Amino acid sequence: MRLCWFNDFRLGLVREDHIRDVTRALEDVDRYTYPAQKGDLLLSNLDRLRPIINRLADTGVAHGIRDVRFLSPVAQPTKIIGTPVNYLKHIEEAQADLKAFTSRYQGSIHEQGLFLKAVSALVGPSEGVTLRFPDRRNDHEMELGVIIGRKGSNIAESDALEHVAGYAIALDMVVRGSEDRSFRKSIDSYAVLGPWLVTADEIADPSNLAFSLSVNGTLRQASNTKFMILNIAEQISWASQFYTLWPGDIIMTGTCEGVGPVHPGDVMHCEIEGIATMDVAVN
Ligand code: MN
Repeated sequence: MRLCWFNDFRLGLVREDHIRDVTRALEDVDRYTYPAQKGDLLLSNLDRLRPIINRLADTGVAHGIRDVRFLSPVAQPTKIIGTPVNYLKHIEEAQADLKAFTSRYQGSIHEQGLFLKAVSALVGPSEGVTLRFPDRRNDHEMELGVIIGRKGSNIAESDALEHVAGYAIALDMVVRGSEDRSFRKSIDSYAVLGPWLVTADEIADPSNLAFSLSVNGTLRQASNTKFMILNIAEQISWASQFYTLWPGDIIMTGTCEGVGPVHPGDVMHCEIEGIATMDVAVN
């Protein structure tokens, strides 16, 4: 199942080259409780809603994939978790250019720990990335996004993938500099997720997905999730030792080599095998 939020927060089921509006699936979900319970409402209720979504899709209004505005496929995560230095060749390029890649953070993933990005930074691909500090170096980091579907704390590695609702393309955008990582990676629009969420049952092996990013048609990043140092289950288990994972929480699982700067007017083209392609404009 491929789910998206599009236009003015319509819920869509993606089928081949079109999207069916299935917003009515949320009619009996209490969307207006205050204060809202933690966790994304759609993902908290997804198991129950799946048959309803599939039924509504048969008659829902159809839109061409190219005719809609894609928002983030997760509306309200409680947190966006970032995994640093998770591909060996990215570590090598960062160590070779300490002027650009701050030397503030040293050591292995376990020595550095995970980091958090503000949820207010989250956008979908059609919203684009808006640079706040165009005179500084702003980099793309192309990553596999893992979306949690089931609440958990102290999750065992052997159970970890059962907590995954699905996968999406993630861009962990960053302005380079000496400040704390979460500060530089939490600028509005610096967390892109999209264009849709592919449910975990459709991805046979998330640890073997080719992915790439090009800027204005020039290939910058190309790798495979099999080159992760800390695999997805290990990341989920480790994160859940520190904080409860809630439905909708997003893990940006680290970037490969080829990280580089973007400028206003650029278009980033992202692809992950089995998930999607998406274009993201830089403003
Ligand atoms: Mn990253």
